[in-house]
Amino acid sequence: MGLCEKLDLSGRVALVTGASSRGIGAGAAEALAGAGAKVFLVARREENLKQKVAAIAEAGGEAAYMACDVSDENQCKAAIDACLEAFGRLDIMVLSAGICGMFSEDVEDFFDTEDWEEVLGINLYGVMHFIKYGYEACSEHGVGSIIPISSMAALKVDGMLAYTATKGALLRMVPYLAKHLGPEGIRVNAIAPGLIDTEMTNPPGFDTTETLHKPAMEKAPLRRCASIEDCADAIVFLASDASRCITGQTIAVDGGEALI
Ligand code: NAP
Repeated sequence: MGLCEKLDLSGRVALVTGASSRGIGAGAAEALAGAGAKVFLVARREENLKQKVAAIAEAGGEAAYMACDVSDENQCKAAIDACLEAFGRLDIMVLSAGICGMFSEDVEDFFDTEDWEEVLGINLYGVMHFIKYGYEACSEHGVGSIIPISSMAALKVDGMLAYTATKGALLRMVPYLAKHLGPEGIRVNAIAPGLIDTEMTNPPGFDTTETLHKPAMEKAPLRRCASIEDCADAIVFLASDASRCITGQTIAVDGGEALI
């Protein structure tokens, strides 16, 4: 079987959290659908999800969605049930929903309890909830692949403390889960993106191109920052049989940014 056939996800079903923006989750959903998977999109903004589903259908793919706050355990369980109801199986979970939390370089702000609760609720519990309720379905056909989205923040000292703590926790959850879910037919690998131009780092009403993105690009060993498409390519690879013997790993998708 050639590499292209191994990357083919026809017949598989992928659930993607954080798929409502122009960011990594939406890019992954589009790419997974392009590779043949049926995709189930999850995030809070329902109107955006509807539009993403329509765009995937227009491009010849198949998609469905459920509005869900990933920090709410019951809503996550309901989303898994809705995915199984819509498509009859679940093989791949890309857990991309995330927030960066309050940005401040003031040490006192590093310990804002409300901020920690919100960031942990979404970035960490939001991942745990989906694995808790989704892993059994992912094991059913022996081709399960769970892909949490960590961050360069976990590989170097970057980003806010609560954010970094959650992304570092994902880094250690990956090998732990890979060890225990491997025998169930599930691989677990993360990607750790570098700085990417999304709503998170370049929100509407701001323009961080000159202050944030260009300087990062100039410093990175490959003289470029990663793009949404770079992440999507790595995610399709990790979701597919092309990576069938890889588990427990975190792949930095960052143009080498974490090396500096
Ligand atoms: P983004 O465009 O802001 O996307 C974040 C997504 O998460 C949105 O779809 C948002 O949708 C969803 N989300 C946030 N809170 C949620 C909640 N409570 N329940 C459900 N969905 C929720 O940011 P992004 O850059 O694509 O980020 C995706 C992931 O990549 C995050 O985990 C982030 O930490 C990670 N990452 C990003 C970068 C970067 O430079 N951009 C670098 C490294 C890692 P709703 O608002 O509709 O809920």
